[in-house]
Amino acid sequence: MQVQENTTNLMAEFMFMGYHLSMAENHEIDDLLSKLSADEKIRLLNGVGSWKTFAADGKLPHLFMSDGPHGLRKQDEEHYSDINDSIIATCFPTASCAASSWNREMFTLLGKSIANEAKKENVDIVLGPGINIKRSPLCGRNFEYYSEDPYLAGTLAAADVKAMQQEGTACSLKHFAANNQETRRQTSNSIIDERTLHEIYLRAFEIVVKEADPATIMGSYNRVNGEYACRNKRLLTDILREKWGFKGLVVSDWGACIDPALCVKAGLDLAMPDSNGYLPSKLKESFEAGRISMAEIEKAAARIIRLAKEKAALKASRTSAQYAFDFEVQHKASLKIAEESAVLLKNENAFLPLSKGKIAVIGELAEFVKFQGGGSSHINTKHYPDAVESLKNEGYEVSYAKGYYSGFCKKSELQKLNAPLIEEALNLAKTAAANNMPVLFFCGLTDAYEGEGFDRKTLDFPPEQVELLKKILAVTKNVALITFSGAPVVFPFRDEVKAILHMYLCGEACGEAAASLISGKANPSGRLAETFPLRAEDTPCFNNFGDTANDNVEYREGIFIGYRHYETKNIPVQYEFGYGLSYTTFELSDMNVSLPKVSCKVTNTGTRAGSEVVQLYVKNPEAEYASKENPLRPLKELRGFEKVYLEPGEAKTVEITVDNNAFCIYSAKAEKFVEIAGEYEIQLASSVKNVHLSQKVQIEGEKIQDHIVPVDDEFYKAHSIAVHKPGEFTVSDSLVDLAKHSLRVKIVYNFMLRIAKASCKSKYEDDPSVKIMVSAMTENPLESLISTSGGAISEKLVNRLVKWANGKAGKKEQ
Ligand code: BGC
Repeated sequence: MQVQENTTNLMAEFMFMGYHLSMAENHEIDDLLSKLSADEKIRLLNGVGSWKTFAADGKLPHLFMSDGPHGLRKQDEEHYSDINDSIIATCFPTASCAASSWNREMFTLLGKSIANEAKKENVDIVLGPGINIKRSPLCGRNFEYYSEDPYLAGTLAAADVKAMQQEGTACSLKHFAANNQETRRQTSNSIIDERTLHEIYLRAFEIVVKEADPATIMGSYNRVNGEYACRNKRLLTDILREKWGFKGLVVSDWGACIDPALCVKAGLDLAMPDSNGYLPSKLKESFEAGRISMAEIEKAAARIIRLAKEKAALKASRTSAQYAFDFEVQHKASLKIAEESAVLLKNENAFLPLSKGKIAVIGELAEFVKFQGGGSSHINTKHYPDAVESLKNEGYEVSYAKGYYSGFCKKSELQKLNAPLIEEALNLAKTAAANNMPVLFFCGLTDAYEGEGFDRKTLDFPPEQVELLKKILAVTKNVALITFSGAPVVFPFRDEVKAILHMYLCGEACGEAAASLISGKANPSGRLAETFPLRAEDTPCFNNFGDTANDNVEYREGIFIGYRHYETKNIPVQYEFGYGLSYTTFELSDMNVSLPKVSCKVTNTGTRAGSEVVQLYVKNPEAEYASKENPLRPLKELRGFEKVYLEPGEAKTVEITVDNNAFCIYSAKAEKFVEIAGEYEIQLASSVKNVHLSQKVQIEGEKIQDHIVPVDDEFYKAHSIAVHKPGEFTVSDSLVDLAKHSLRVKIVYNFMLRIAKASCKSKYEDDPSVKIMVSAMTENPLESLISTSGGAISEKLVNRLVKWANGKAGKKEQ
């Protein structure tokens, strides 16, 4: 097939887009492009294998990428096939854990540390961090995300990205955008009004793009307001590139490119992974049919070449010393972040720290510490001491009983496995009661409970752990919970236990971090970056989240998510946003407001060194939140924060720069953030509820009424996608939906299920790596199955499946 070339002058194009490349660099890119045939340019827009870009027989340097946000999951095709199989790397605390540090320095350390390993492993792009906003605490992937608050998420992620990129490793900020649930993640349609989109779901991305200039951004699987994120021109071009000035590469999530011509036209540059020729052939067809021009293809190709060239030059200039890293040092960094991030939620009568002596430890999670979640962020680490071993190393005389089985097993086997463990644990609890020994109950979500590709059903702990705790509490009340989960849970018997230390999923040093916090060697200073509600039913999107039958997800709660919802509507919670205790006490005084700066004095009034997080909230003008039914703004919003470390008795002045959007709302009319006039209150607080100092300020600006655009049912209807019936199915539908309408498709569906499970060898059905495989094979749009199945699922088969599902109704239309 002959392909017509239509080469543009990319130098002019790049100048226009704001790239400040030298003339020589621009010429080099033009020159490289001119050496490629049209077919090669088209091929360049699709990956090679799972992790590389196309090198055109050595004419171009290629890029190598690797997951992950919490450590490297480096795989190469020859050696690794299973998702959990990758090189040995340091596992750092997951994002939800590290975000609880409220400490930019921890993210600088994290970014730098991951880059150390990336350099050594010749990884050019690290796929992360993930900064999607936590709309519901039930999202199975929340452990990979930072916060329910976009300012906190954006600010911390910017520190991470800056640090990583300063070391020469590019990041891929993900998943852009509004990817807030795992149910039907490849086809779901997030329907969001403009104000909510900009104030909540895009804001963290905007902050990182503007502050840290990420080299790449990853387009998500889902649709946004009816169009797939990876072919959403409004998101990828109008907002990301034109409004925010993003200069980098847009990469698709793995398998998220549906119809490459539409994607490239919308602003996608690189579709990942390799599609065994499918995506290039589709793009070529589209080019020949005049659906896309060579100039558009070259624009994306030039962006890939530019980054590949930059990375190749960097690698060539590095000395061997710059490649060296030490696992010991990396491990210490992981431990430091974990210690800074764990959150002390309860501590009756200073139960913790525990003085050295005899302690009883119950719960298998003390031995098999849950330190990470499942899916593409899974890291293979070296072996490090568990919590039992670490407590012994810390000087405790530990008696340990497993209490429950925490691994994967058949549900029917669990009771049998647990019976002797329960008996042993209760005997230990009795000994502890008789000898006045404190009991540490290690509990939380086990591996089956949270991961990529599925959402949680409840906020509850595994029932066998709750049952056991009940029995232990009947024997002794001298119990502290040491808990693990990547997202909010409802703590069982939280009124009866003496202390709760929430470790989140805090990386490979989890056991050691738990021991040093329990002993008081480290002082807890984590603060919740998300609300822990009382019940799942209290969450604002409870009725509109994780529907397995419908792709349309209406974000009807608008901007009122997380604390914006609970505080404004006065809904009680377990633990509020920003909450966390310390082994010492702090006093805030001497507030001074000189906008955009606000300062105060913080004094450590206790007897131990520790860190306080000064949180700055702006309480909005009263009339705007007063109506419980229809508030125009949240009661208050986080607009600044600083963490400060103080020795006992020490005082320091903390200065906070208030977010430049602090008094703004996003106006869908003006299509920008506008400052709203009124009397605001600046609050300095230690949680969203616990305000220490405040001062009123009068802000000049516009009237809020002029900028509020009501959102009605019509809006949601207009942006929803039709639920297809026979006769309407296309290659954009998934196997799971088609199988409901045709026996023949159902047989193929069942066969695919069998293949998905068989490819995970001897794993149990509730293992996240099995779930992710099943969801990829059955819930992906069929077109994406063709491109990701490595040729196993052909276009012909897919067309046949669609025809079968359309049945007689389909025939009429064909
Ligand atoms: C995930 C991405 C990940 C990619 C590559 C996708 O399924 O959503 O976050 O980077 O796989 O592993």
